[in-house]
Amino acid sequence: MANAKPRVRFCPSPTGNPHVGLVRTALFNWAFARHTGGSVIFRIEDTDAARDSEESYNQLLDSLNWLGLDWDEGPDEKGGPHAPYRQSQRMDIYADIVKRLQAAGHAYDCYCTTAELDERRDAARKAGRPSGYDGHCRDLSAAQIEEYRAEGRTSIVRFRMPDETITFDDLVRGELTFTPENVPDYGIVRANGAPLYTLVNPVDDALMEITHVLRGEDLLSSTPRQIALYKALIDIGAAKEIPLFGHLPYVMGEGNKKLSKRDPEASLNLYRERGFLPEGLLNYLSLLGWSFSADQDVFSIGELVEKFDIADVNSNPARFDLKKAEAINADHIRLLDVRSFTEACAPWLRAPHANWPQENFDQAAWEAIAPYAQTRLTVLSDITANVDFLFLDRPVDDEASWAKAMKGDPVALLTTARARLAEADWTSPEALKAAVLAAGEEHGLKLGKAQAPVRVAVTGRTVGLPLFESLQILGRDRSLERIDAALAKLAA
Ligand code: GLU
Ligand code: ZN
Repeated sequence: MANAKPRVRFCPSPTGNPHVGLVRTALFNWAFARHTGGSVIFRIEDTDAARDSEESYNQLLDSLNWLGLDWDEGPDEKGGPHAPYRQSQRMDIYADIVKRLQAAGHAYDCYCTTAELDERRDAARKAGRPSGYDGHCRDLSAAQIEEYRAEGRTSIVRFRMPDETITFDDLVRGELTFTPENVPDYGIVRANGAPLYTLVNPVDDALMEITHVLRGEDLLSSTPRQIALYKALIDIGAAKEIPLFGHLPYVMGEGNKKLSKRDPEASLNLYRERGFLPEGLLNYLSLLGWSFSADQDVFSIGELVEKFDIADVNSNPARFDLKKAEAINADHIRLLDVRSFTEACAPWLRAPHANWPQENFDQAAWEAIAPYAQTRLTVLSDITANVDFLFLDRPVDDEASWAKAMKGDPVALLTTARARLAEADWTSPEALKAAVLAAGEEHGLKLGKAQAPVRVAVTGRTVGLPLFESLQILGRDRSLERIDAALAKLAA
């Protein structure tokens, strides 16, 4: 296995909405596999019927598809040599493994009640001893077991941790050592027979021949237990080799607190709905614990794959920086060819995003304005407000913009500007600019001050795309009509 191609896994539990931490983990696994020519195994860890949902599962698939993160083996049609890839369909496999572990003495039934466990833990704490499970049921006699059963006690299955120090070389954090008193025997099957994450996750990693486990640092404390379980699986002939582990650094959010999957800014859907490009978001997320180079932080997915190495992942916590994510996304928007850009914007030019009647949409006007919009967007959803003046019957009513622009003597300025524009050459934005410039000069106003009332009259807003190109694309008649309407409003 040492020389075989890497096999990594992405194994989310389908609970709740996909979040950025989960995507970062998926991305690092995917990039590592694609860089090394290895395989991505997509496994669904749906053994918690109370929390898992089909809706969440479908969202996961949809999100990964949107991001372009693909896999080589996985649930449903994809399949693969280790199918099924949904843990809820693998229960008989786990039952068999548990039976074999128990037969070989690696696991045992524990009859302790919660009250007894609590009591002994409190006593251990008071005495300053390690407070994890104390091994009470490790070596029960047949008679004791008989007695417990007669009392009507139920049992869970516990894994017997070997009394030895566990050391492993983390791919990100270097050598780590765990002493046995800190890793007590742990439950692997509930009293009702349901296998736990502690069992099924390493069992499937073993059976699916995973070579590299790359996952979040929050799972680090389960690694020594899993390594011990792996050794037992090797002993019973269910595993070949212990995989390598790499724990990806924490992602910190606001106020230097760990980003929680419940934080609103952690929701993947939020970024998608705001119009992040998949490549922009992946580019940003790849920088959470890794860097492309000292002087370049915008790159394509292809470049990421070419360069990504797990050995370069940094163990320090990474900070989630929304401004940086937006700046990188804006760069990716600029990198699109115009045609891809116009296509990427399409969803935001339709209901429910678009605020104009759909029949007003004019593809030619959109294609004419698109290049000016492309250099100004941070996220694609910004496009709607930037171009709505072209498709609305009247510009939006934005009181704040109106108040800001219609200062001094806007009637005089707009009257002159209208006259100059009416006689200008509408085939040239430069000529339209000269017309507004001349109108301003007549009233002692610089271009900036002179164009503000024109912009608000025509687009409804003080900020927007380049004004003279906007006027030209809107057209002479509609532009002049809007200035007339503004003059009428000012007169009223
Ligand atoms: N299903 C686990 C989780 O989502 C996977 C943990 C792991 O990668 O080992 O937390
Ligand atoms: Zn016990």
